[in-house]
Amino acid sequence: MTDITAPLLEWYGKHKRALPWRESPDAYRVWVSEIMLQQTRIQAVMGYYERFMTAFPSVEALAQAEEDAVLKLWEGLGYYSRARNLHKCAKIVTERCDGQFPADYKALRALPGIGDYTAGAIASIAFNLPEAAVDGNVMRLHARLTACPTEIQNPAYRKAVQRELSALSPAGQCGDFSSALMELGETVCLPGTPRCGECPLREPCEANKRGETALYPVMAAKKPRRVEERTVLLLLRGNRIALHKRGDKGLLAGLWEFPGGEVPEGAEMCGEAVHIFTHVEWHMKGYIVPDAPDGDYQWFTQSERRQLAIPSAFRCFAAIAEEMGY
Ligand code: SF4
Repeated sequence: MTDITAPLLEWYGKHKRALPWRESPDAYRVWVSEIMLQQTRIQAVMGYYERFMTAFPSVEALAQAEEDAVLKLWEGLGYYSRARNLHKCAKIVTERCDGQFPADYKALRALPGIGDYTAGAIASIAFNLPEAAVDGNVMRLHARLTACPTEIQNPAYRKAVQRELSALSPAGQCGDFSSALMELGETVCLPGTPRCGECPLREPCEANKRGETALYPVMAAKKPRRVEERTVLLLLRGNRIALHKRGDKGLLAGLWEFPGGEVPEGAEMCGEAVHIFTHVEWHMKGYIVPDAPDGDYQWFTQSERRQLAIPSAFRCFAAIAEEMGY
């Protein structure tokens, strides 16, 4: 690939967005923002990021927090394993690294929840090391720049892009270079129709030269989502409602949910909802169960329930409970 560094950095200097985590990009702030931004749009992350930084202004503050408090601040952002790993990682950095993130790609990569992308982002943005952060936006950009026929989901292709872009990182401007690649991919080299007329790389771009931008990136065929039918029980007793804590592994690990299972006699249907995850769809039917018996769950008053992180999959049922005073 032709050297894209100079036009890219010039474009970034003029067009970079003012984002709260860019104000003083230390490793803690870069790390939290990058974990939040995985699978999530910038606009959705802004408010969460500000609230999180106010509650946990340092890695030590995060390490000392209760897990439920961390999950509560994550409520609605989805992919909750990110929050659990964030908390786990904060404890390790505080206890073993004296509160300092290592200025080394491999050492960063070894921390929980930090993959190739996040390690690259922290290394380049916080420590100015020549490591690229390759996300889906950067892969799409690279595939078009080089008119690459390989599927962008191919792990070997992603590794090769990371090596190639890391090697291009200019000394002293590594953070700007990796941020610029992501920003150009996200704001100009758009997934649907790229804005080639505004692109600083339109001359070296192979797909643009050939008039074939619509052919790239080459994508692997998507597997259809699995559909799961679920029962959601609003089990009531006195002024309390039952919630069950999900296990430590898998989808929505460690979060509170309304119990499921057989619909008891006397239950009344209260609503239906569909929630779409990456690989599965939940089709849910909710029932209100007055005078419910004990079971594998705990009882909470309305104000106690409000303190807990309940995934947005259950938003409609949480709203019903709220309205009923539970
Ligand atoms: S010229 Fe168009 S297709 Fe090529 S990198 Fe720029 S925006 Fe993407």
